[in-house]
Amino acid sequence: MNSGLLLEHRSAVHTRVTGCYSPFHHDRNHTMTTTVGVIGLGNMGGGMAATLARHDFPVFGFDLSQAARDKAAAAGVTPVSSLAELLDTIDIVILSLPKAEHVEQLCLGKEGTQEENQDTTRLLTLGKPGLIVIDTTTSTPETSRKVAAALATRGIDFIDAPVSGGPKGAASGSMSMVIGAEEEVLARAMPVLEAMSGSRVHVGGCGAGNVAKIANNMLAACHLISTAEAVSMAARAGVSPEKLLEGVNAGSGRSGASQVMFPSWVINKAYDSGFTMGLMRKDVGLASDLTAALGLALPLSSTVAKLWDESSATLDDSEDFCAIVQRTDPTLFGHGE
Ligand code: NAD
Repeated sequence: MNSGLLLEHRSAVHTRVTGCYSPFHHDRNHTMTTTVGVIGLGNMGGGMAATLARHDFPVFGFDLSQAARDKAAAAGVTPVSSLAELLDTIDIVILSLPKAEHVEQLCLGKEGTQEENQDTTRLLTLGKPGLIVIDTTTSTPETSRKVAAALATRGIDFIDAPVSGGPKGAASGSMSMVIGAEEEVLARAMPVLEAMSGSRVHVGGCGAGNVAKIANNMLAACHLISTAEAVSMAARAGVSPEKLLEGVNAGSGRSGASQVMFPSWVINKAYDSGFTMGLMRKDVGLASDLTAALGLALPLSSTVAKLWDESSATLDDSEDFCAIVQRTDPTLFGHGE
């Protein structure tokens, strides 16, 4: 760790001490600075780290990818090359990893192996008591609860705070969050959460954030396809996609798909939202798993889940998630190749 850099960062001050116990660092002016780490500096995590740095938080970033670390460094984030180095320094760590299994592996290590208890590469071993983990990954409620329970044995708190708003929202600090947390932990994390998001809805205890996020993305998955079907039908009946969307967005058929996704990434055929087909298929799968675990029969959602699943025949995981509409009407929504 570059201690010179650290001292320089810590001279930036954020929050007046309120007199209550705080795990955060205090400086000579009796103010405290929260030092933040971000693990996973991809499309979302990179933007979150840059936003927090812009708000004068000292921010340290870790990613397996050197390119991601370099990009974050250019945005004012101090890159570190190991989890141990990161956790040595920070008060709050934000996770922005692809899937639940990445979160579990990073926090708990390789469970069930002989080396498990000596695993010095996992957050459970390296994190200090008082650390708060804010997991923004779209993960599963079970993973959040399992990881939270294990970390609690070390005095580490865990919040699941999955996000919406895409890379643009992460980079501008306007994301929305649905949060699962204990009130007291949430209050301590709030200055950081407020700096990185435009809206925060506390939906319940640990795991509830991911329940709400899975429900949200199930709706987004439905809306993209249903809006594609409506636009395609209207186009065949002589109404242009642009005019149809204007009408729908002033009426009761509007949604995130009609108001944001179609105008920003579909109608212009840009397909560059920064959210991949692979990650959206994962989220649709999480909704199917949750529905099955609850013993529910949800016919519309299961049809939509089947359509997303089958789309892997023509749409690679690396494609933009909005490209799903090309399955409804390849002529209208395709690139024209
Ligand atoms: P991404 O693939 O762009 O970024 C993930 C990053 O994590 C990569 O840079 C990867 O190298 C890094 N990583 C993986 N394992 C790691 C490990 N063990 N240690 C350190 N770094 C590791 O993904 P993203 O689009 O930023 O999405 C992140 C999460 O946010 C996902 O759960 C996704 O579903 C969710 N999300 C994404 C969007 C979006 O628009 N992209 C919107 C809302 C929510």
